[in-house]
Amino acid sequence: MAELQQEAQENVKPEKIDPKFKYEVMKHPGAEKIQMCFQCGTCTADCAIARFSDFYKPRKIARIVQLGLKNRLLGNPMLWLCTTCFTCVDHCPQGVEVSSIVRALRNMSVGNMNEMPFIYKVFASNVLKTGYVYLMPESRLKRRGAEGLPPLPKSNVEHVTKLFEATGFLETLENASTFKNVNLKTGDQDG
Ligand code: SF4
Ligand code: SF4
Repeated sequence: MAELQQEAQENVKPEKIDPKFKYEVMKHPGAEKIQMCFQCGTCTADCAIARFSDFYKPRKIARIVQLGLKNRLLGNPMLWLCTTCFTCVDHCPQGVEVSSIVRALRNMSVGNMNEMPFIYKVFASNVLKTGYVYLMPESRLKRRGAEGLPPLPKSNVEHVTKLFEATGFLETLENASTFKNVNLKTGDQDG
């Protein structure tokens, strides 16, 4: 809380508050309990990223959503720092899924800003082409055979394409711009 107060004092420009923002976020699966957060800080204390970053704090993300400071979050590259390790979810005494809230914010950001990390675009393109996130090199497939492992199941790429089209993600994927890294210290795009 002290951090937010300090930021508010430093940030002299008034920020636009969107009172409906939290309800938009709550529509996403896993983000329904955002209003239950009572700012205990357990999630931040246990977060693997918060340990190394001065600005990435899951507790603060939850508070910013509650306050409706939409512009601070949507399109903010620091959202992509979350490793989705779910430690915050496991430890939250209120059952708030901060990890799912961050995922919801990422989805909303991509929808609003048409921008995503380069590696996510690569992964999504791989899924579209092969049904797999990771393109397995031929040498590894041969090694699987040599080790007596069964062949990988065949994916139905046609169904994947239909799914991408039906959700509108195909268009997003084609048009989205990318950035390579997020600076852990500053939270800005890096490359
Ligand atoms: S642990 Fe849960 S209740 Fe505590 S600050 Fe984090 S999200 Fe809020
Ligand atoms: S899921 Fe994300 S926010 Fe939660 S503890 Fe892991 S890195 Fe931190």
